[in-house]
Amino acid sequence: PPRNSNAARDIANLLHPYTDARAHAQNGPLVITRGEGVRVFDDQGNSYIETVAGLWCASLGFDNARLVEAATKQMKQLPFYHAFTGRSHEPAIDLAEMLIERAPVPMSKVFFCNSGSEANDTAVKMIWYFNNAIGRPEKKKIIGRLKGYHGITIAAGSVTGLPVNHKLFDLPIAGVLHTTTPHYYREGRPGETEEQFATRCATELDELIIAEGPETVAAFFAEPVMGAGGVLVPPATYYEKIQAVLKKHDVLFVADEVICGFGRTGEYWGCQSMGIQPDILTCAKALSASFLPISAVLINDRIFQGLADGSASIGSFGHGFTYSGHPVPAAVAVETLKIYDEMEIVAHVKKVAPVLQDGLRSRFANHPLVGEVRGIGLIGAVELVADKATKKAFDPAQKIGPRLTKIAEANGLIMRALPGDGIAFSPPLIITAEEIVDMLDRFSKSLDELAVQLRR
Ligand code: PLP
Repeated sequence: PPRNSNAARDIANLLHPYTDARAHAQNGPLVITRGEGVRVFDDQGNSYIETVAGLWCASLGFDNARLVEAATKQMKQLPFYHAFTGRSHEPAIDLAEMLIERAPVPMSKVFFCNSGSEANDTAVKMIWYFNNAIGRPEKKKIIGRLKGYHGITIAAGSVTGLPVNHKLFDLPIAGVLHTTTPHYYREGRPGETEEQFATRCATELDELIIAEGPETVAAFFAEPVMGAGGVLVPPATYYEKIQAVLKKHDVLFVADEVICGFGRTGEYWGCQSMGIQPDILTCAKALSASFLPISAVLINDRIFQGLADGSASIGSFGHGFTYSGHPVPAAVAVETLKIYDEMEIVAHVKKVAPVLQDGLRSRFANHPLVGEVRGIGLIGAVELVADKATKKAFDPAQKIGPRLTKIAEANGLIMRALPGDGIAFSPPLIITAEEIVDMLDRFSKSLDELAVQLRR
């Protein structure tokens, strides 16, 4: 690229998250300069449908005058204040109240952070503190699931169950364990029904807790529908069985709603789609439509009472961020939740979701390169396989997912390939039926072009 182009300056100066630096220096970035609805535009003027809403997050798309106005108004009035001991401000108060009103189960209090990782780290610390406060400090182990994604900070990154986030970082830390991924297509055994598979997942969790000692196991973390691990929707009875095991051993359920929250799965919360009654809920991303960073941890009254008692008996909960509940993102989040109410986000997702889900299945399930189509609401994935009959995956060296996303880019789509060659769909929630059809048409063309390339 020309020396002073965006691409050249990027390569010269910017270290990107999750990026092979040498490959990046060769290929350069796609530089996005503006957005409009479900589309973004690059610095060459090309337009793309954002099929994953950025990072599963830009729920209201890439322009919204009301959110800009909410941020500007708050910046003019009070650009910063904190909420440490004895201090507060209206945006944090309003947002906490709105989240409590909208929670999927009765919740007591909200704690604000800036990212999904911070929210999950905070949940881990709250759980440790809670069990200390109620006199059982040894009950501190955390169980996540293989392929689960909860972020990358030391605790959240430990609960995450993806090798790339553990390898070379000495993660997971001691006391964080992982149980079976509830993905029937890949993990189900020959002859095992989905129901039997769900039972086995719960039995394996039970056995893990018993082997570790239930008095040492504090909490289980789960995304209602796993996102980054492949868009994995568990079998129907999975959570019912898992929750029975957790209840038996008094292990807390932390629902990570960072992707699923605010309509993605066709209900306001993934917990409602999946029948989960969490003790703690973390959310981020669509909380502010991702116009500004903010995340939240919702806790039920049992946890809150433990924390409150603990302040008196063991000292206050020594945890919080400079920007916990920063007024500007909080004001944007308040406006975001109002917009969701006014546009009836859940009704909208329920209306257009069949266009995505039926479209994915009817158009791609029989495609020779597709092993499985899965999803719910406005989240889905198509898993590419080398051999449909045997489910044989492509050799990772072939980088088949990235190859497809490159072809899709030329066809006006920004897509995301997940580990295991799942191609994700998680568009802005404002997407219309017509835009979904356009997206699937472009994907279909891309997939056929990949098939032609592979035949050569
Ligand atoms: N939890 C889930 C389910 C996520 O998908 C993500 C990010 O994609 C996170 C947590 C981490 O959030 P962040 O990247 O804001 O730290």
